[in-house]
Amino acid sequence: MLTSICGINWGDEGKGRMVDLLSRDFDIVCRYQGGNNAGHTVINEKGKFILNLLPSGILREDVVNVLGCGMVIDLKHLCGEIERLQNAGIKITPENLKISDKAVITMPYNVLQDVMEEDRLSKATGKPYGSTRRGIAPVYADKYMKKTFRMGELLNTKLMFKRLPDIVAWKNLTVTAYGYDPVKVEDMVDYFTTYGEPLKEFITDTGLYLNEADKAGKNIMFEAQLGALRDIDYGIVPYTSSSSTIAAYAPIGAGVPNLKIDKSIGIMKAYSSCVGAGPFTCEYFGEQAERLRELGGEYGAATGRPRRVGPFDVVASRYGIRCQGADEIALTKLDVLDDYEEIEICTHYELDGKIIDEFPFTDVLDYCKPVFEKVKGWNCDISHCKKPEDLPEEALAYIQLLEKLCGCRIRYVSVGAERDACIKMY
Ligand code: GDP
Ligand code: MG
Repeated sequence: MLTSICGINWGDEGKGRMVDLLSRDFDIVCRYQGGNNAGHTVINEKGKFILNLLPSGILREDVVNVLGCGMVIDLKHLCGEIERLQNAGIKITPENLKISDKAVITMPYNVLQDVMEEDRLSKATGKPYGSTRRGIAPVYADKYMKKTFRMGELLNTKLMFKRLPDIVAWKNLTVTAYGYDPVKVEDMVDYFTTYGEPLKEFITDTGLYLNEADKAGKNIMFEAQLGALRDIDYGIVPYTSSSSTIAAYAPIGAGVPNLKIDKSIGIMKAYSSCVGAGPFTCEYFGEQAERLRELGGEYGAATGRPRRVGPFDVVASRYGIRCQGADEIALTKLDVLDDYEEIEICTHYELDGKIIDEFPFTDVLDYCKPVFEKVKGWNCDISHCKKPEDLPEEALAYIQLLEKLCGCRIRYVSVGAERDACIKMY
């Protein structure tokens, strides 16, 4: 059985916490796209963890974790992340961590390119993309230029080191044009050697591994990074990530393009949050924003940046559900709305005096205004609720309204960041 856990919104929906909870019924958790720009927060009996590259199943001893071929891997970052978890007592061995030989290596010069371009944009236009500055866009661009190195090459560096000088020379055309010193070949050799060596034991043909696991009847979960609205094709271009965050991409990015997903679980937040630049139609400003940001603790897990916030956006979420082909929803962070007497929902957008309810093209989004409706809040603490019957009537009504407006059943509702603070609705 293949299940994908994907984001319905702008990312940070709480995918990590849902993967941590739901992976109790799975044998394998596999990340299939993105890199260490992810920030997946998991809180359970072992502590609080923020995972950037490792799948959120890594905290369960009996789950095998896979970094798929659709990912981009910063070697130094991964070594640090593994060490940090091992120091916290988490077991990480080639038995429970497998890295695809086809995954692409994020190079130090990709990180430099990200910084250079964000700085250039800031100076030239005052409008950087709001990148995490971890080299993700440049390394995916290099992938399509077919000028990258892959994890499998670390197993026999001879050819890789032969190609390296020309790739560095090519990259330096860009680096020096920005006014920076050229990158040195020996520094790249050093990067591969220092941080590649400890990772060698984890590198394998994960496609083969996953196919055999599937044949043996194992339960496989795919963990997405970011949400539908940050997808490179379907998201709010250019304010997206540089990879496909869509569930349908999971088999490809995981290494099993021959297999089909049985179930897509969409992770959707009870209100909206967005990191970085770009149109965000339902956005709150001023005191309204500060209140929701504080209540939701909306600061980036990977970067600490304050996240932009707003009420639940029906137009964007319905589009996200469609893109993800979600069969069911896990609604997260409902407890964040505990303090509201009235809760706003962005039900439609207004464009040139007309009401629209289909998510528009990016340029059009700039001209859309949110249409808000108010519903009665529950105005009490729901964080202790364990079953649907424990929830106040108004909270149940809010969940049912979102189901109706979005056209998808909500199976799980999380009411706290800890693993078990989650209600199974049916
Ligand atoms: P991800 O990137 O989708 O995994 O989400 P993040 O970890 O970036 O952001 C989710 C944040 O909300 C984290 O700080 C979580 O600890 C927290 N969180 C997750 N679920 C809940 C919940 O139900 N209630 C509250 N209050 N916090 C939650
Ligand atoms: Mg996150």
